[in-house]
Amino acid sequence: MIVTRFAPSPNGMLHLGHAYSAIVAHDLARGQDGTADGRFLLRIEDIDGERSRPELTEAFREDLAWLGLEWEEVPPQSSRLERYAAAAERLKSEGLLYPCQCTRSEIAAAARQTGPEGPVYPGTCKHKAFDPGVPAAWRLNIAEAIGRTGPLDWCDDLAGLQVAQPELLGDVVLVRKDNPASYHLAATLDDAADAVTLVTRGQDLFAATHVHRLLQALLDLPVPRWHHHALVLDASGKKLAKRRGSASLADLRAKGVDGKDLGTELRAGRLAGVNSLSQV
Ligand code: GLU
Repeated sequence: MIVTRFAPSPNGMLHLGHAYSAIVAHDLARGQDGTADGRFLLRIEDIDGERSRPELTEAFREDLAWLGLEWEEVPPQSSRLERYAAAAERLKSEGLLYPCQCTRSEIAAAARQTGPEGPVYPGTCKHKAFDPGVPAAWRLNIAEAIGRTGPLDWCDDLAGLQVAQPELLGDVVLVRKDNPASYHLAATLDDAADAVTLVTRGQDLFAATHVHRLLQALLDLPVPRWHHHALVLDASGKKLAKRRGSASLADLRAKGVDGKDLGTELRAGRLAGVNSLSQV
């Protein structure tokens, strides 16, 4: 049975890109008409510290219902902190994490490479003395981790078989200074806990999957398949974002737009008010 999920972060209202993502995940599990026997899950990724606005969650549910989707809701990330902490402790005890006390600007200044998610951490703190008075994030020692697992691969429905290259992202943060888990750790653990068999999300998160595949191997988690779908682009060819003025689904709802009709347009690639889908 196919199990997919839509995993929005309540940092801002959902826009058409999110609607497309939810529809892709829904249809792959339940079929367009909701009669297939898969499961489509909603998971609220609400551990983004001050950026997280839990009051948006109800608006997300209204958006999905307005699009004509049915879903099962699984526990939000804020209720799973102990599980994340336990996994981080395990990786620490295996010598795979190290504390990092660098600031964002120190990292940007010291980075010699830019990866798919921005400056690649140059490993400054790997051999530095730890100052107990300064807040620390915990980073995955990628070289050490790859040495333990050996080569890995993963499969994307659209892009085919991929050799895992977690080194492209460098020593990513798994435990944040202000949070018990980063996106990489929390999402990977949750997809396993929720028995997700097909992880569907936008192409902008394609590279993150290299790290998620490594974490699955390190933490003995099941390996799903992935489906990184095209992104909805605005008229200037950029992905939609609230900060660039993309209309929220709540705005469209308030204007009286029919959500099911909008879903039909999105499925057909005829995107009302936006330009196109990116090439996969
Ligand atoms: N919470 C993430 C976001 O809103 C989704 C990540 C995922 O689907 O893996 O971008």
